[in-house]
Amino acid sequence: MSMSYESFINEEEIDKAINQIPEKNKIRDIISKCKSAEHKGLTLNEVGSLLNLKDYELWEEIFETARQIKQYIYGNRMVLFAPLYVSNTCANNCLYCGFRKDNKELIRRHLTKAQLQEETAILQRQGHKRLLLVYGETPYKPEQLVEDVEACYAVKTPPSGEIRRINMNIAPMSVADFKILSTAHIGTFQCFQETYHRPTYEKVHISGKKADYLWRLYAHHRSYEGGIEDYGMGVLYGLYDYKYDTIALIKHAQVMEATYGVGPHTISFPRLEPAHGSDMSFNPPHKVSDEDLKKIVAVTRLALPYVGMIISTREKASLRMELLKLGISQLSAGSKVSPGGYHDSMTDDFDRAQFDVADERSLDEVIYDLVTNLGYIPSFCTGCYRKKRVGEHFMGLAKKAFIKDFCFPNAVFTFSEYLRDYASHKTKTAGLDLVRKMVEHSKQKEKIEQQLTKVATGANDIYF
Ligand code: SAM
Ligand code: SF4
Repeated sequence: MSMSYESFINEEEIDKAINQIPEKNKIRDIISKCKSAEHKGLTLNEVGSLLNLKDYELWEEIFETARQIKQYIYGNRMVLFAPLYVSNTCANNCLYCGFRKDNKELIRRHLTKAQLQEETAILQRQGHKRLLLVYGETPYKPEQLVEDVEACYAVKTPPSGEIRRINMNIAPMSVADFKILSTAHIGTFQCFQETYHRPTYEKVHISGKKADYLWRLYAHHRSYEGGIEDYGMGVLYGLYDYKYDTIALIKHAQVMEATYGVGPHTISFPRLEPAHGSDMSFNPPHKVSDEDLKKIVAVTRLALPYVGMIISTREKASLRMELLKLGISQLSAGSKVSPGGYHDSMTDDFDRAQFDVADERSLDEVIYDLVTNLGYIPSFCTGCYRKKRVGEHFMGLAKKAFIKDFCFPNAVFTFSEYLRDYASHKTKTAGLDLVRKMVEHSKQKEKIEQQLTKVATGANDIYF
């Protein structure tokens, strides 16, 4: 497809959706449609109706429906990953970000290969298997990014430390450059539009390539055409009206699905957090409350039932735990948000970090809470990506809810590896107990137990 770069964010269409009146009967119809086994998602007008709803009792029903859909499609597992900041140098001036070019107080750092490998090794020793590499925007050659990815994959630490999937949150590139990057076997290309509201977008991106709204809007088109089939989207909540941006984000996902037959692999829900050197970040122009964030997450789960949904350590532990029930399927843990942050200190240095982290629990603590408070199986699974269940193929499986059949056993295998090699004593005890109970009730009990015996005697990286 040649890129026409016309905005597909139609103001009239969004205005209509945002002005929907949330009549009780209409809301009830939407809820029962969501509960039907087809899981077809929602129209933009339906999304608008839900977001305008005030009735507390009906919101409880919506939350419950979101929980049920998540449980049906994704089951009881929660994927865990860590961000690894490679560079905080940046040519852009996003007014909300600590990395922006004109922030003279920030100490700039681009990790060398040795430093990158050291950060990777530290994360491996915590038990991580999935990384998200993050960069500021400077004109890095894609070949350089390929080298970084290869350097991370090359790191191995005893007893079973290795990275099995690398996702990237990087500036969007041309199709030709994405083609080069795709040779590095990356998982998801993640890129947030920040806000779909063009006047606001132009106000907060004052210079650099990112100031070009349409270049960013077509980032996922280009990455897909460059051969990276899994892509992640998001809005930076706090910049503009959350209703507008949520409706527009869902429109974006629908446009991609209509164009390529593949919806987004993941959607993230970052909220603007205080960042040293950014006044705007301390006073978000459209601050989103915890309650509104819960609504956004639940409505997105209803609108896009099959999408992976990510919440980062920008949010505090208690809220993250609530959001998990409403639809979140992936969680970062033990994060540092500055280049070299894992090596340097126990806390991020404010003069190098992108923003303040609210959930400072270690990976082991997050896992303990997932297991004991929610009965979730933490997962380090990378099976789909390595068995080429990506893009269209992944969506086909997810839509048949088969993902559960792969995800559950694979979560059990990778979690058991973690418990064997990296868990604290109390996490190991609680984790083994949960695994035993859940496998006992599984339809695939025998098959799973056979593989678990292998894990117990030292086998690694088992997946269906
Ligand atoms: N430089 C690339 C870009 O802008 O797409 C990728 C890395 S950037 C560090 C990743 C994301 O961080 C941005 O897309 C933005 O949504 C988010 N971000 C920036 N400033 C933030 C802040 N103060 N609080 C929370 N998230 C922020
Ligand atoms: Fe640079 Fe990305 Fe921060 Fe913007 S959000 S200043 S592009 S690192």
